[in-house]
Amino acid sequence: KKASIGVTGLAVMGRNLARNLARHGHTVALHNRSEERTRALVDQFGDEGDFIPAYSAQEFVDALERPRQVVIMVKAGAPTDAVIDEFAPLLEPGDVIVDAGNAHFADTRRREAALREQGLHFVGTGVSGGEEGALHGPSIMPGGSPESYQSLGPLFEDISAKVDGSPCCTHVGADGAGHFVKMVHNGIEYADMQLIAESFDLLRGAAGYSPAEIAEVFRTWNTGRLDSYLIEITADVLAHVDASTGKPFVDIVADQAEQKGTGRWTVQIGLDLGVPISGIAEAVFARSLSGSSELRSAARDLGGPTRAPLADVSGFADKVEQALYASKVVAYAQGFNQIQAGGAEYGWDIDLGRVAAIWRGGCIIRAKFLNDITSAYEAEPGLPTLLTSGGFRKAVEEAQDAWRSVISTAVSLGIPTPGFSTALAYYDGLRADRLPAALVQGQRDFFGAHTYRRVDREGSFHTAWAEPGRPEVSA
Ligand code: NDP
Repeated sequence: KKASIGVTGLAVMGRNLARNLARHGHTVALHNRSEERTRALVDQFGDEGDFIPAYSAQEFVDALERPRQVVIMVKAGAPTDAVIDEFAPLLEPGDVIVDAGNAHFADTRRREAALREQGLHFVGTGVSGGEEGALHGPSIMPGGSPESYQSLGPLFEDISAKVDGSPCCTHVGADGAGHFVKMVHNGIEYADMQLIAESFDLLRGAAGYSPAEIAEVFRTWNTGRLDSYLIEITADVLAHVDASTGKPFVDIVADQAEQKGTGRWTVQIGLDLGVPISGIAEAVFARSLSGSSELRSAARDLGGPTRAPLADVSGFADKVEQALYASKVVAYAQGFNQIQAGGAEYGWDIDLGRVAAIWRGGCIIRAKFLNDITSAYEAEPGLPTLLTSGGFRKAVEEAQDAWRSVISTAVSLGIPTPGFSTALAYYDGLRADRLPAALVQGQRDFFGAHTYRRVDREGSFHTAWAEPGRPEVSA
């Protein structure tokens, strides 16, 4: 018997993906650069399903049914290229190579183009949910050709998370679309985490709640519109007490957030595409600031406000919930606009409502809220921003007084809320009748003759700022 799919790269992610496939009744060929991992998988989990271990690339390829489907799950970057170079010469036209690692979508586009020349399908796919997700059902975001999805889709849908009976897997778009969408998913995750962290900081710093009390607040929020995996685990983290000191766990952890780089990629690409994803950017910068230890210790004695925390905390937690909700809508609206812009730039026909739907299960940002995003795009596929869709518009308008008040409190007490603040500034920027960008254009024309457009006439204009009377000329 041959295998319907093979996995090469059997560290934690590849191993769990292979086990998930086998548990769903698929025969899985196994391969890893060093043999031990292959042997260990078969020894420990061989009874979970049908595995065909292979100890050379040729043996692995020979174990696969045609069209062959090879899933690569190795360290992203040069290792992925090395593995592709090893397997591609052994494959035949029509076979499918899947990169399920966290590749940059630009690498995926390059690899797809090169392998297409050889008649091979290359599918870069986002896989979200960490090791648990890989084993029990991740959210899967495959790119690549529609033909490749015909054979791969049923397998991936089978092993993906399910929400209301539907699989958290869809063909996202051609070549790098899957990895692009996974990248933005991670960027949104950064923003969401930062906003939740700011909520905690305010509840503690402004209202004086203890971590255990804040855990309870989060548990209550988790029964409402903020119901999500991240809110749920935040409550658990805040309720946890350090065994060795008896202190709240959150107080014994060094306050320097680390990052592996997908948030940074999201922001870099946001800049390239000219999409204002300020919520994601502030979240990445907030982690950078937290990690700047020398800078922080040099600046620690800078003066701050002398105001005392709130005397009356009644209703404050509810206001923070509203600020968090509104800021979250903005961060997601920005992220979805980035996917839209990526689609336009790279020619991907991405169904934004479907993307929200496949994030409802398996991945880190899974949440009830995503149903509302799907509904918003189903009602209006060309929606310019989630903020103008009926439901979100109303909810954010209703939340805005609380949102503004919470940020005012934070500012007056000197509690940094870059995520909340940038979200509100974006909202107000979009709403503005006139922006001071007009003045910026004037400045640019003054020092660089960069020209400007007028509100009352077509064309480009330049003012000769150095000449008497400053005459205006058509540029
Ligand atoms: P690692 O990223 O730690 O990679 C280890 C695997 O890569 C091993 O199988 C190793 O083989 C193989 N490898 C490394 N270099 C080479 C090379 N030059 N040639 C061949 N094989 C090589 O494993 P993870 O399971 O953590 O992650 C796999 C992929 O999944 C990564 O791209 C990661 O970014 C992505 N991912 C990870 C998630 C997570 O939660 N960990 C979540 C989602 C995606 P050997 O055993 O021989 O050293």
